[in-house]
Amino acid sequence: MNTVVVNARAVARLRGGHPWIYRSDVVSADGAGPGALVGVKSERGRFLGTAFYSTASEITLRLLSAARIDNFAELVRERVRNAVEYRKKVVKDSDACRIIFSEADELPGLIVDRYNDVLVLEALTQATDQREFKQIVVGELAAQLAPAGIVERAEPRIRQLEQLPPLKDGFLYGEKTETVFTMNGVRFHQRALSGQKTGAFLDQRENYAAAAAYAHGEALDVFCYQGGFALHLARVCPQVTAVDSSRAALEQAEQNAALNPALPEIEWVEANAFDLLKDYAAAGRQYDTIVLDPPAFARSRRALQTALRGYKELNLRALKMLRPGGILVTCSCSYHVSEEEFVEMLASACCDAHRSVRILEKRGQSKDHPIVLTVPETSYLKCVIAAVSH
Ligand code: SAH
Repeated sequence: MNTVVVNARAVARLRGGHPWIYRSDVVSADGAGPGALVGVKSERGRFLGTAFYSTASEITLRLLSAARIDNFAELVRERVRNAVEYRKKVVKDSDACRIIFSEADELPGLIVDRYNDVLVLEALTQATDQREFKQIVVGELAAQLAPAGIVERAEPRIRQLEQLPPLKDGFLYGEKTETVFTMNGVRFHQRALSGQKTGAFLDQRENYAAAAAYAHGEALDVFCYQGGFALHLARVCPQVTAVDSSRAALEQAEQNAALNPALPEIEWVEANAFDLLKDYAAAGRQYDTIVLDPPAFARSRRALQTALRGYKELNLRALKMLRPGGILVTCSCSYHVSEEEFVEMLASACCDAHRSVRILEKRGQSKDHPIVLTVPETSYLKCVIAAVSH
């Protein structure tokens, strides 16, 4: 095993419970290859742990263990088992959830989502993309969950950053790629080899149920994607309009609606959300419930101010359109926008809209996307549920 020597700043980071070491804090890498399992040492020669090495990423090392690893395959299998066990405890009313959430499950660079009997795996780094590693993970997942299919998906941009060759999405196990899954009693299609991300925004699963607990009257779901919020709102709201700019997402949403025939019909609108909110506001439209769940506006800390302006514009327009007693469910999945900044933005939008607002709940991602206290990057989703008093 190669040994990578890191500087004092990296030592302090590891001591603070963070598993990443950046390239600028690596002193020497001893010729370690892409995705190698390496020993990590301080400049004084103290052993710090065992990590995955990347020759491409700015995140050069991802710590796997503070100890030496005797049996790598068994360690990985044990972590997969722990991840599965944890979901059994925290996931309720759903046969879909994230099974492995990278650093939060001590399997850095690996994501696995479960949709009923189909699993979707994504390797984000050179180490987790190695065939042997994937085989160990797939073997244990198959043993624990007995899925009908395990499919691999890849985001080309991430593979490029890691200098990995393009990957064709494909089978890792079994043959099934399409299924129907249920969240909070609402049914959805999963087509593992199409759609954005791995197919659904599982991190919002608990927020769907929370939103439905307060929603009433006429509802508007802005940035609806495949109808996650809209379908949940339709259980309690007689009228639901849902908006997205993606035709493909709306088509999928309609098919999801057809899986839930007891729900009232939803009006699906293909439009740019900013334009549509402006037009609806100008037309004097009013709602009792509005959900805002835009894509990440801040992809880096530098984009923060622009992102906050975008969030404020959306929230301001939504607040103006809510009737007294109305419910706003407003989300941000930008890691670079903190909860504090998000709430501050919302307060400022309330002032500008001359509305008085009470916060009912400040929420985050579902529990199957656990947050590690010492790894802030594991916490990214904000979901504020608020009531407009007058
Ligand atoms: N609420 C959804 C997830 C939303 S993801 C759920 O719970 O499943 C963000 C969505 O915003 C994507 O579907 C994307 O197509 C859409 N989108 C991005 N920019 C948009 C814009 N300017 N107007 C409308 N929709 C947009």
